[in-house]
Amino acid sequence: MRRRQVVVVGAGPAGLAAARSALAAGAEVTLLDSAPDPGGQYHRMLPEEYEAARPERLQHGWRDFARLRRALLGHPRCTWRAETSVWALERRGPGERKPPRVHVLHGPADGSGRTRHTLDPDALVLATGAHDRVLPFPGWELPGVFTAGAAQALAKGERVVVGDRVVVAGSGPFLLPVAASLLEAGARVREVLEASTPATLVRGWSHRPWQLAAQVGKTAELVEYAGALARHRVPYRTGRTVVEARGEGRVEEVVTARLRPDWSVVPSSERTVAVDAVCVAHGFSPQLELPVAAGCLVDSTPAGEFVRVDGDQRTSVAGVWAAGEITGIAGAPAARAEGALAGWYAAGGPVGARPLRALRRSRDQGRAFAERLARAHPVGAAWPGWLRPETLVCRCEETPYGALCRAAEEPAGAAARTAKLATRAGLGPCQARMCGPTVTELTARLRGPAPDGHDTDGLPAPAIHRRPLAQPIRLGELAAGPAPVPEPEREPEPDGTGHPQSSTPNPLTKESS
Ligand SMILES: Cc1cc2nc3c(=O)[nH]c(=O)nc-3n(C[C@H](O)[C@H](O)[C@H](O)COP(=O)(O)OP(=O)(O)OC[C@H]3O[C@@H](n4cnc5c(N)ncnc54)[C@H](O)[C@@H]3O)c2cc1C
Repeated sequence: MRRRQVVVVGAGPAGLAAARSALAAGAEVTLLDSAPDPGGQYHRMLPEEYEAARPERLQHGWRDFARLRRALLGHPRCTWRAETSVWALERRGPGERKPPRVHVLHGPADGSGRTRHTLDPDALVLATGAHDRVLPFPGWELPGVFTAGAAQALAKGERVVVGDRVVVAGSGPFLLPVAASLLEAGARVREVLEASTPATLVRGWSHRPWQLAAQVGKTAELVEYAGALARHRVPYRTGRTVVEARGEGRVEEVVTARLRPDWSVVPSSERTVAVDAVCVAHGFSPQLELPVAAGCLVDSTPAGEFVRVDGDQRTSVAGVWAAGEITGIAGAPAARAEGALAGWYAAGGPVGARPLRALRRSRDQGRAFAERLARAHPVGAAWPGWLRPETLVCRCEETPYGALCRAAEEPAGAAARTAKLATRAGLGPCQARMCGPTVTELTARLRGPAPDGHDTDGLPAPAIHRRPLAQPIRLGELAAGPAPVPEPEREPEPDGTGHPQSSTPNPLTKESS
């Protein structure tokens, strides 16, 4: 009997759980990720060449992760493709029930000699995660200003600290692991600033308090991070944020200010703090280009746009499932539960399998947690008050806020497309991955939302996640055409025999968070 071919894009907590579950349901699985190692953002590993004595430092649930990694990568029906990016998804013709064709590029991100090939799965699971969102403020383009996620990735994946005297600022519980990793890697964290005011935090976190009982793992993690801050005497202040970075050629000090609940600055509350680095994050932006390329419907929520899924993690497109941060920001445990459901159903596993009930419960608890997060850490509507006309909103193209304001006043520039071409916001190398949500929000405020979802030039309003090329590809690589699909990569067993592990992992094995 021919086994169902499932391709899983992304090897973070969601993708790994999807792969395990699809294997347990009997499928042939191809798991791919643009990173050299599996783990995603949560289990970002030190490179193996470092031969770290304690690779588990700065990690949670390392033992379970290491076991899962071995089980998957050594499984005879699992093909692991490292350093493999999906750069495009090609939709089928009308009426065809198969998922889109998957175009991949294999090889190190900046390397030459990368090859491309095409996969034709029976089912596709998208688990591409998120990146951190940063609101602009004067001076944010200075060297030494980092996204909290980048600082975390350098600390976890390289043991490199971004500076000696660091301020961590923004909103959300993610600030805590970032500060803890910086401390662990040797930086001095001067303070952690949570922009939400105490009243907003209390209102958000105390909403339906009985639901918190399901988040014991997350709570324990937070207590651990808070303990690290207390040991190092790092103040955690609420209702305050960085509103300006200053320095000659690089950041030397930041201006912090007290905020009202709408994130307007309380007059005369500004303070300067000497730093050599600042790490900021105001939530996460899901990586939606592949779901959008596949044609999946996306919902707009107060916390941002996310892929619409049904109770089985099925998207609106036949043969495509979605899991993890692209369906909502709820943390690693929820991503795992969603991934396990998505993998099971993508593989055609029996719909009534009893353990699925526990997974659904865990997924639903994750969704409730996501709602709580959104309530406790909303982006305040008055944040554009931090901007000055010369503040850059698109760093790639160096577009100042004043240029967006001028474009909005021009009748000819009222169409979002014309304004985009005139200001060049979002047209640089990141293709609006960083500035897209900000530019969209600011332009909508300046000229009002597009009527009926149509831009003033009569075309549908531009969708910020629509990027036919999801990852950069060189013209030479495109011209070379697709190569045959390479032989599967298999990891040797840790005992050195090189024999793949044959046992099928249980999709419902509980992992600690
Ligand atoms: C920078 C950063 C650091 C974080 N660190 C922590 C932390 O320390 N602790 C914590 O609790 N939470 C952390 N988070 C939150 C965390 O992302 C989630 O809780 C969890 O990792 C989500 O799992 P996921 O599987 O949905 O996504 P991810 O873990 O983000 O995994 C997505 C994977 O998809 C791959 N991918 C994306 N696009 C493509 C493509 N086109 N082709 C191939 N592969 C692709 C990525 O390389 C990545 O490995 C972090 C988030 C970010 C953005």
